Amino acid sequence: MSDPFILARQLSNLIFVDGELRPSTSSESIPVISPYSLEQIGSIPLCNEIDVHHAVQSAKKVQATWAQENPQRRSYLLRKCGESITAHAQELAHLMSLETGKALKTESLVELSVVEDTFQYYAGLTLELKGETIPYDPNILAFTIREPLGVIGAIIPWNVPLMLLAMKVAPALAAGNTVVLKASPEASLTVLRAAQLLGAILPKGVLNVITGDGLLTGDALVRHPDIAKVTFTGSVESGRKVNVNAAEKIIPVTLELGGKSPLIIYPDADIDRAAQDVVTGMRFTRQGQSCSASSRVFVHATLHDVFIQRVKQLLEKMVIGDPLDPHTDIGTLISKRQFDKVQSFLALAKADSGLHIHEVGNLPKNTRGLFHLPTLISGITNEHVLCQQEIFGPIMCVLSWDNEQGVIEQANATDYGLAAGVWAKDIAKALQAVKSLNAGFVQVNQYMVFRPSLAFGGFKHSGLGKEASKNTMIEHFTKEKLVLINCA
Ligand code: NAD
Repeated sequence: MSDPFILARQLSNLIFVDGELRPSTSSESIPVISPYSLEQIGSIPLCNEIDVHHAVQSAKKVQATWAQENPQRRSYLLRKCGESITAHAQELAHLMSLETGKALKTESLVELSVVEDTFQYYAGLTLELKGETIPYDPNILAFTIREPLGVIGAIIPWNVPLMLLAMKVAPALAAGNTVVLKASPEASLTVLRAAQLLGAILPKGVLNVITGDGLLTGDALVRHPDIAKVTFTGSVESGRKVNVNAAEKIIPVTLELGGKSPLIIYPDADIDRAAQDVVTGMRFTRQGQSCSASSRVFVHATLHDVFIQRVKQLLEKMVIGDPLDPHTDIGTLISKRQFDKVQSFLALAKADSGLHIHEVGNLPKNTRGLFHLPTLISGITNEHVLCQQEIFGPIMCVLSWDNEQGVIEQANATDYGLAAGVWAKDIAKALQAVKSLNAGFVQVNQYMVFRPSLAFGGFKHSGLGKEASKNTMIEHFTKEKLVLINCA
C-alpha cells in the first residue's frame, strides 16, 4: 500500500482529464491542509474556465460512442470499477483519513465498502433502461425510448467524497452519459486517486475530475453550454446558486442539500437501543458532519434524563484521536473554517444561561488537530437557532416532549426535510408519525442506513430529486423520447 503522505504529494497540482492525470492550465492553487497536523500535505489546482472547457470537451467527444456501447459491456466495466476500488480500499481510506480527518476505522474504511456496492448495483441496471409501448391505434406502433442526457456536471462536498462520487458517476455512466466531476477543495486528492483507478478501466474521456472552488470552478462547470444536467450535493446556499444558473440554461438539476433531522423517542421505546442508535445517527464518529445527522432528538419527558445519561455513557467510551490510528473512533472536523463555525454555535449555547451543555469525553493531548468534543444541549426549544440551523458538527440538541401532536409539529418546524427517525414499540403510533413527518427518508426503530436501491433525498430546502435507486437513475440521467410509427 502506498504511503498516504507520498500519494498526497504525487497527486498534487493535477486534475484527471482525457484519461490521464495532468496539470491544469491555471497558475493558481489551493493548499491541502491536514486537519489533524494542520500541516500542508499537498495542493490542488484552482481550475479556471479553460480547464473546465477541456474537461467538458473530453467528455463530449466520447459521449455518443459510450452511449452506443453494448450495455453488457458498460455493465462489465462498471463492475470492474467497483472491484478496483475495493482492491485499493486500504490505500484510498488512508488517503481520505489523512485529507479529511475522518477516522479510518469507523468512517473511511466503512465508506469504501459502500463504493463497490454502488458500482455493482448500477452495473446490474444497464439492461434496465427500458421504455414502454403505448396502446394508441391498431395501425400505429407507439413506444418510448430512454436516451442519455449527454455530459453530466457532478459537484460534490467533502464529507463522504467517494460514496458521493459513486452515487453520481455510476448511474450517470450506466445510463450512457459521460461525466465531469468537480471535487470539493477539501477532499480532492482521494477523488483524484479514485479517478485514476477508474480511468484505467473506462475509455478515456468518459470520466473527468477537476478541482477548485465553487465560485470560479463550480460556477463555470454549471454554466458551461455543453453540460446537459447538473447533479449537486452540498449546502442550501450553494445549491440555490446552482439552481439559478441551471435555470438560466434550462437544464435539469438534482440537488441533495442540508438537513436538521428530527428523531422522536416515544415513551415505550427501548431506550438502550435508541441511545445507541442516536450515537450512530448523529454521526459522532464523523464529528457530526453528516447531512442526515439526527441533530434534533425529541425524547419523551419520562425518558429524557435516562436518555442523556445513556448517550453520555456511550460517548465516554469512544476514543478521540489521530484519524489514521486504527484504534480511533472519532477523528477531526474537516477545516479551520468548519471548526470556527462549530465553536461559534457552542459559544451561542454557552451565552444562553437557560441551556444545559454536556460536553462528553476527552480531547487528545499534544495535538493541534481540529477536535471538538461530542456535545449534547438540553433544556432547549425548537425555535432556538441551534435547532434551526445546520451546524454540521458534533452538537446535538435534546428536546423534551409530552404531547404527541405537538412533537410532530415541532419536528416538522424547520426549513429542512431530509431525514427523520421514530423510536416506538407501538407500530401503529410509529406509522402515524411516519405519515405526518415531512422528510424524504423516515426510519422506525433504526436510523442511518444507506444502501444503493434505497432512494435518498430530501423535501423542502433539503433538495430536489433523489438518488441511489433504479428509478432515480432513469428519472435523473435519461430523457424519454416518444416514437410513433405508422404501419398502415
Ligand atoms: P458547499 O455547498 O460549500 O460545497 C459543495 C460543493 O459545491 C463543493 O464542491 C463546492 O466547491 C461547490 N460549490 C460551492 N458553491 C458553488 C457554486 N456557486 N456553483 C457550483 N459549485 C459550487 O458544501 P460543503 O461545505 O462542501 O458540504 C457540506 C454541505 O453538504 C452540508 O450542508 C451537507 O448537509 C451537504 N450534504 C448533503 C448531502 C445529501 O445527500 N443531501 C450529502 C452530503 C453533504
